[in-house]
Amino acid sequence: MASRQGEGTSRRALLKGATLAAGAVAAPAVAAEGGAAAPVDVIVVGAGMSGLCAARALRSQGRSVLVLEARDRVGGRTKPGAIAGVKIDLGGMWVGPTQTRLLALGEEFGLQRYPSFIEGKNITEIGGVMRNGSRDTPGVALSSLPEFLGLVSKIGGLSRTVPLEAPWTAPDAARLDSMTLATWVEQNVRSPALRTVMESISSSIMAADMSQTSMLYFLFYCHSGDDLVTLAGMGSGAQKWLYRGGLNQVGARIAAELGEAVRLNAPVRRIAQDAAGVVVTSDAGAFRARRVIVAVPPALAARIDYAPGLPALRDGLCQRLPMGSTIKFWIAYPRPFWRDAGLNGLVLSDRTPVGLYTDVSPDAAGPGLIAGFFEGSHAVAWGQRTAAERKAQIVGDLTRLLGPQAAQPIDYVDNDWPSEEWSRGCYVGVAGPGVISVFGEALRRPVGRIHWAGTETSTVWCGYVEGAIRAGERAAAEAHAALAA
Ligand SMILES: Cc1cc2nc3c(=O)[nH]c(=O)nc-3n(C[C@H](O)[C@H](O)[C@H](O)COP(=O)(O)OP(=O)(O)OC[C@H]3O[C@@H](n4cnc5c(N)ncnc54)[C@H](O)[C@@H]3O)c2cc1C
Repeated sequence: MASRQGEGTSRRALLKGATLAAGAVAAPAVAAEGGAAAPVDVIVVGAGMSGLCAARALRSQGRSVLVLEARDRVGGRTKPGAIAGVKIDLGGMWVGPTQTRLLALGEEFGLQRYPSFIEGKNITEIGGVMRNGSRDTPGVALSSLPEFLGLVSKIGGLSRTVPLEAPWTAPDAARLDSMTLATWVEQNVRSPALRTVMESISSSIMAADMSQTSMLYFLFYCHSGDDLVTLAGMGSGAQKWLYRGGLNQVGARIAAELGEAVRLNAPVRRIAQDAAGVVVTSDAGAFRARRVIVAVPPALAARIDYAPGLPALRDGLCQRLPMGSTIKFWIAYPRPFWRDAGLNGLVLSDRTPVGLYTDVSPDAAGPGLIAGFFEGSHAVAWGQRTAAERKAQIVGDLTRLLGPQAAQPIDYVDNDWPSEEWSRGCYVGVAGPGVISVFGEALRRPVGRIHWAGTETSTVWCGYVEGAIRAGERAAAEAHAALAA
């Protein structure tokens, strides 16, 4: 490990006495060690999974770090909650087989996984017709299987033409980025049921309606998450496992390791660069560093003030990557009673404002837990109602779909992500037409001493915790290399 001389002392001094005024940008270059507010090598903005993993990677390379987090908790879009006495995730929760960095961290921290429950029949209700199916991807029961497979193969072929590092260089980038996913589906999918399934897939993987998503971005997203079936699949894809006690424990464990280097209640307002360093001004004071990693989604990075101002390309990108919309809920019953009737609790219906219901019970003995999502425009509409109204809607729909026992839940909890000041939505920032082909190259390009992390910048599993981890580690490597140069 490289030298970390004085790091512990200087970090403590920094945390105790760091009260530089915002005008400190005019102060001499990065101060020598031992001062009242000795600089760190790298300040990380945001203690989501990306920022935490960036800080951890830098630490392991002998760099001193300070993580400034706006909220009073770490984890960002991963968040602990509880229902019927069970610890759960109110944000990101599933992990799939190719999400290798997250799987490795889970193993390192000794977390236990359990599989999504998919044995038995799922329910698909589209256009007033209800069917049971047993396929991994619900909804196929109501469309023709050959057409579905043809569509998957067509999207797969197109998505593989989109280079992950530079989607804007795809052979047909300009045309694909000139249309929404909705337009493409209208032109390429004949079956109305399959169009509905595509709408459901779009909202369940990005929390945005097909009409809000560029076709080029959708193809990049599919390629980044392996393929459409992996993204949407429950039993073998991105939704294969959950963590007992919650995925959010991974971030909490990393934050515990980082200790005092993580500063909560410290929203960053301004990042000022000069020839020798960076001054990052937060509500908890101003701090100096040699480099900074901004590990927040572009929509939130846009709310920080930069001096000098960001280049037009980067600023233009930040203006054009709005967050998707999701309200995630959990509802609890004494047992997963639907399993008695041979159902697996997986429901896709166009008659409810909830895109997808899934059985996420950790134990067959109970409690029986169903998690689901109001997504895209449904989340926007239902965010204007109360949690009690949302619960009443869900209980009514589940009673119709799963039977009368669904009318008696023992607990309910939901989380309205678009209303959270430091997320403003989820699962991911989504590009509409004309964004990636024109502004995409600014996604990861450093601006002076500023490096960009966050799942939105990941080439692999963009939008997922896996992408957040990889992006954090990539930005850490960039900053480390720049410091060594
Ligand atoms: C409901 C929901 C379900 C999801 N399901 C899954 C799933 O099952 N599997 C999966 O892999 N992914 C899932 N995701 C997505 C996944 O959670 C995210 O991709 C991932 O957590 C993003 O991490 P991040 O570090 O890039 O960003 P964030 O988690 O958004 O972290 C950014 C951090 O920066 C902080 N911040 C923002 N602005 C400032 C500022 N100015 N100053 C200081 N701090 C700031 C925020 O408070 C936050 O802590 C889900 C997300 C949600 C919300």
